[in-house]
Amino acid sequence: MTERRRRLRLHPVSLPEAVVPWAALELEMKACVRCHLASLRHQVVVYRGAPRPWVLFIGEAPGKEEDASGLPFVGRAGRILDRAVAASGLRPRDWGVTNVIMCRPPQNRFDRRAAAACRPWLEAKFGTLDPRVLVTLGTHALEAFAPEELPISRAAGHAATIWGRTLFPMLHPASTLHSKRYGERWRDDWARFAVLLPSLRPDPFAEGSKPRICSASPAGGLAPPGDGPGRALPLRS
Ligand code: SF4
Repeated sequence: MTERRRRLRLHPVSLPEAVVPWAALELEMKACVRCHLASLRHQVVVYRGAPRPWVLFIGEAPGKEEDASGLPFVGRAGRILDRAVAASGLRPRDWGVTNVIMCRPPQNRFDRRAAAACRPWLEAKFGTLDPRVLVTLGTHALEAFAPEELPISRAAGHAATIWGRTLFPMLHPASTLHSKRYGERWRDDWARFAVLLPSLRPDPFAEGSKPRICSASPAGGLAPPGDGPGRALPLRS
């Protein structure tokens, strides 16, 4: 296997200069009416997970169960994700999950207009949560960060560096419900990710691990972790 390092050409993104406290950001997001999906949703589906995740999973859009509960990945796909995460050794305090679009689109069809409207929220979540590792789930989630890396069938399971952090694209867990081949690929990619994880875990005593700000939140508190340096990873060729 040839080792190589690469940096991705990125989708334009403007990480906030001043990080917004999570509680304030969450309130704004839950009241959002920036696009046509606002009138169709029951709830804005913001985030599920640790207050200070160093691994952030990013899916595409909420489905019916997410729209009803207000939490991302709580249906069948969410259970597949949760099982894989638990098997990888990640602890609940290590990770969180969100979506590119926060309101359920009709027929669960990915809606690019809504994704564009929701983009500033995605960037704000990223800036405030400040994860060290990003795991995109599915084509549209990868497209939001590194569209030139598509197709997902080629990109999944290949680590790369973005903004000094690690990007690890994966298939969407729902795809494994319909295809044995995708199920096998999902398991292979998770095995590879689990091997990488110990080298990515932040050192709790490192300077960069200190939180930049602390903020209380009614949902249990969210404050971003430190802005520790990411690592460029050797890639599978
Ligand atoms: S999809 Fe995003 S931009 Fe559109 S209303 Fe919902 S939260 Fe706002």
